Amino acid sequence: MSQPTLRAPKGTFDLLPPQGEAVLAVREAMAQQVRLAGYAYIETPAFEHTSLFVRGVGSSTDVVTKEMYSFHSKGGDDLTLRPEGTASVMRAVLEAGLVNGPLPLKLWYSGSFYRYERPQAGRYRHFSQVGAEAIGSDDPALDAELIVTGIDIYRSLGLSRVRLLLNSLGDESDRPAYRAALVEFLDTLDLDEATRERARINPLRVLDDKRAEVQAQLAKAPLMPQFLSAANREHYDTVRALLTDAGVEWDESPRLVRGLDYYTRTAFEFVHDGLGAQSAIGGGGRYDGLATSLGGPSVPAVGWALGVDRTLLAMRAEGVAPLESGAVDVFAVPIGEAAARVAFGLVVALRRAGVRADLAVDGRGIKGAMKAADRSGASLALVIGDRDLEQHEVQLKTMSTGDQVSVPLEHVVDDVLAALQRATPGRKAQ
Ligand code: AMP
Repeated sequence: MSQPTLRAPKGTFDLLPPQGEAVLAVREAMAQQVRLAGYAYIETPAFEHTSLFVRGVGSSTDVVTKEMYSFHSKGGDDLTLRPEGTASVMRAVLEAGLVNGPLPLKLWYSGSFYRYERPQAGRYRHFSQVGAEAIGSDDPALDAELIVTGIDIYRSLGLSRVRLLLNSLGDESDRPAYRAALVEFLDTLDLDEATRERARINPLRVLDDKRAEVQAQLAKAPLMPQFLSAANREHYDTVRALLTDAGVEWDESPRLVRGLDYYTRTAFEFVHDGLGAQSAIGGGGRYDGLATSLGGPSVPAVGWALGVDRTLLAMRAEGVAPLESGAVDVFAVPIGEAAARVAFGLVVALRRAGVRADLAVDGRGIKGAMKAADRSGASLALVIGDRDLEQHEVQLKTMSTGDQVSVPLEHVVDDVLAALQRATPGRKAQ
């Protein structure tokens, strides 16, 4: 009996060509902007001690209570596939003692994250984020810098329907008074038991409830901005002034609380209106309390994470998805064994000259090989038959017109470069 065909686990997907190229292009655009702002690349493990996320993200959050992929290792460790990047970055920074060096540390990362969520369009159990963190300073310039960099990333990708939602969540100086006022208000509402329990553990989270019947009751809820201390108000005002200077617009969102417990002061989300329910394409904020909750010294910090998969969905929704272009520029079509060897040499020489080049393999006849050339997306083909070999030349064929010229073997690289240059002026070698 044959084995059943294996399938990828629910909530995951494979990136098959040509989408793979599009995802790389999105990540690269993100990387380019954070590098422009002086952020350095950091990589941390895909799994960590479970306690890192319990302490860092918060034991009452959905991420920790419902969504973690946790397991016991053979050695008896309690480990979890990372559901987010910030706790790991802070752990790494504290462990290496980097907070004792020059500050702020500006770091960025890119990788896979794992959450056991109910899969739907734009929400997966394995997804990809690019994140950036500025650690060791509470200067509002860093909050603003990260927000502007996020906006510039979306702009550079051609997105025009991204909105910035902005709020300040206060900190331990003013949040307790707000929390008390909110608890008092929530007590007067008609809420189900689970929501009451949530209100007891983290009342701010109730503001985030998506249900219409709950939202209707929250219309008159006290909101954090009314409670901000003078210092936190000034911090928030400076962030907003810098955003204005940079030409960035936002929507004040006094109910935005974000899903993780570590946020203090500035909180923000980037949303896109072309994505339906899963509209958040990125988000972040200040997390001045995270380092102490991990057992470290007090280290203020701010950061964001952008969803790569959802950014690409947003680009498709706007019709600005990166060109899923052909893989190569030149495709060699050798007819016969001797030609195959010459073609191999030419393709290697072209690649070394920075030209994307490929060749027909498996001793295919001219018809099959030309079909492969078509499929490759190449704009030029090098056809090499027996007669060409005798004459020490190849046929350089322009795929779009079918025009063909004979080129001496030793001129192939130069002539191909010149032809590609004519086709796309300004083209640079890869
Ligand atoms: P968060 O830290 O939860 O705000 O996540 C930051 C960004 O990552 C979100 O704005 C999404 O774009 C993306 N993201 C988070 N969870 C998922 C998921 N389950 N599937 C796809 N993208 C996600």
